[in-house]
Amino acid sequence: MHELALAQQLLHIVEQTARANMLKKVAEIKIVVGEMMAVVPEALGFSFQVLSRDTLAAGAKLVIEEQRALSKCSHCQLTYPWLEYGYRCPSCSSLSGIIIQGRDLYIDYLEGDEVSNDAS
Ligand SMILES: [Zn+2]
Repeated sequence: MHELALAQQLLHIVEQTARANMLKKVAEIKIVVGEMMAVVPEALGFSFQVLSRDTLAAGAKLVIEEQRALSKCSHCQLTYPWLEYGYRCPSCSSLSGIIIQGRDLYIDYLEGDEVSNDAS
């Protein structure tokens, strides 16, 4: 269960990003999580919901997109799913796979209400 720690980091970034973009409230957050991060989306969503209660991200919808873990063989250049084959290339059987995708966790976009300077 490292989702709580991840949710904490995520909230920190969300708050900073929201302030930098003059958002007074965050309505939706889209994040991309690599398969290798081994995150349980429901657990991350729940942790985030609890932690964000008294912040500008309270009640925000968290959209989680899972990114496949991919490896590329540096011998024959084949790209293949890392979780199934690991470092061993399914085509040429050499152990020269390099992970090229699936270790990320980042915010794709944030949506919310901007602070209005309009007095009308
Ligand atoms: Zn290969």
